[in-house]
Amino acid sequence: MSDAEGMDPAVKQTAAERATGVDTDTILKTEGLTKRFGGLTAIDDVDLGIEAGELRCLIGPNGAGKSTMLNLVTGALTPSEGSVYFQGHDITRMDPHERIRRGLSIKFQVPSVYEDLSVRENVRLPVQRLASGDDRDRRIEETLATAGLADKADVTAGVLSHGEQQQLEIAMAAALDPDLLLLDEPVAGMAVDERAEVADRITSMNADLDLAFVVIEHDIDFVARIADHVTVLDQGQIFREGSIEEIRDDPEVRRIYLGGEE
Ligand code: ADP
Ligand code: MG
Repeated sequence: MSDAEGMDPAVKQTAAERATGVDTDTILKTEGLTKRFGGLTAIDDVDLGIEAGELRCLIGPNGAGKSTMLNLVTGALTPSEGSVYFQGHDITRMDPHERIRRGLSIKFQVPSVYEDLSVRENVRLPVQRLASGDDRDRRIEETLATAGLADKADVTAGVLSHGEQQQLEIAMAAALDPDLLLLDEPVAGMAVDERAEVADRITSMNADLDLAFVVIEHDIDFVARIADHVTVLDQGQIFREGSIEEIRDDPEVRRIYLGGEE
């Protein structure tokens, strides 16, 4: 459990933050967020707001800036301009570990489970950072159950299917007890039935754990299974925002997708 947990969010706000009108129902907010790589503007003046407990999908063609956006939120990259707020705090220049401590967690695009360790030992790694003794053991078993991997807890992670490894990673990211979980292409390289399983897992975690998600995904059929609300990024800018129905039926969105399909 993070130190900040249990504290009234209003109490955590500083006077300066109240003065700027930072809204604590908005778990994540970016203002004028911009990232340039040399002459390329990968993220261009983006204002994004995510509500507490929301399940948002961030879609867009390859190179749109989706991964860069997540990296700016986690602190893996420093913005060229603009600000990032998490639960009312300006985290723009905050160390990535401090962001994690405050309730931000991420599963990266590339899997990184320890293949020689058992599934349970993999889960133990994040959990033991925040709990010990019986509490730790209980959280480990809960995480295994949430991932649908309770019956595979003792096998080495290397023998899991690609889909199961991704589930394990999502569960490990969730085991840090975050308030917002960022997933970068959680179903990349998965079979159709595995995609459906991950979709169900994400929607039930969102509902049961009151955990907000930002899910980056290229596959619009997957997005349609999970999202309430979709943001379309194109050329580093927010191109559209709306319900999945509005987005899927939008001819301009179809055009950039067909233009950007691998
Ligand atoms: P997406 O995840 O939507 O496919 P990215 O955020 O990975 O897009 O990339 C957005 C743009 O920024 C692309 O043109 C990419 O080549 C460029 N880019 C991303 N990371 C870097 C980097 N570290 N250095 C230079 N250019 C980068
Ligand atoms: Mg990407």
